[in-house]
Amino acid sequence: MLEYQAILEEIAHEIQPFLNEGNVASYIPELANVMPTHFAMSLMCVDGRSFHVGDYEKRFSIQSISKLFTLAMAMQRVDESLWERIGKEPSGSAFNSLIQLEYENGIPRNPFINAGALVVTDIILTHLKDAHATVLEFLRTLTQKDDINFDFHVAKSEAATGYRNQAMANFLKSFGNLEHEPSRVLNAYFHHCAIAMNTQELARAGLFLANQGIQPWLKEPVLTPRQAKRINALMLTCGTYDSVGDFAYRVGLPAKSGVGGGILATLPNHFTICVWSPRLNSKGNSYAGTKALELFTTKTKLSIF
Ligand code: GLN
Repeated sequence: MLEYQAILEEIAHEIQPFLNEGNVASYIPELANVMPTHFAMSLMCVDGRSFHVGDYEKRFSIQSISKLFTLAMAMQRVDESLWERIGKEPSGSAFNSLIQLEYENGIPRNPFINAGALVVTDIILTHLKDAHATVLEFLRTLTQKDDINFDFHVAKSEAATGYRNQAMANFLKSFGNLEHEPSRVLNAYFHHCAIAMNTQELARAGLFLANQGIQPWLKEPVLTPRQAKRINALMLTCGTYDSVGDFAYRVGLPAKSGVGGGILATLPNHFTICVWSPRLNSKGNSYAGTKALELFTTKTKLSIF
């Protein structure tokens, strides 16, 4: 039996020199108000065991990790037609790039770049009365934590400075790939990105992805095994943007990152692992977080490969 707690503590120690590498996201001004040297790691096994190290009780902005949960909600409600509006290929360009959208007639490459997530948000707006509240409720149910909430300062800060996402939503609308008004889609999207959670809660929330669609403490499956497999496939190929190849090479796990510095990864049928460290590499993924996951899969020899 692997000594997970000892391994996490070893990583927390070895990661110290890397906590000064990279830069905290500042294009959303409110995200820059975080202590840049935070570090946390949480492992949640499908058998219910969990292990944590560092600032695992401190909540941070989940940002693009929310794209996993909004995609799961869309897949619960929409059949294959979802994939007529969004692709399933890695983009090879930045998460907020506009270039491909023009060439590809407003069909985003995948659901994990911003353009794809805006279409996912548009889809859930069609199926839900209140997309803000229902996403929160989904995360509260997945974690069994009633106090998970939006960080309204972050949502407001992104709305005030999100010119690129506004351009993107207008662009999608011009191609006929948004049903709702861009402002409504953006408002919901910014709020989903601004949800605050800690590594312990994210590892718990994502367990269904590592467990054939089942959240052990809920009566109903969240997704079918096939849907969970598909989200893992998209995480592996699109979850860390244009460094997805480097990430697979170094870490070897399906993962989704966010510019708040969190990364949620899975080893299907075994565990979820969530890491947080706010300084990012040039592609927008946590610098020390990626390194910590690399150390974990190297030390444990556990990866999908
Ligand atoms: N809210 C951020 C944005 O839209 C999310 C980006 C990310 O986490 N990669 O730019």
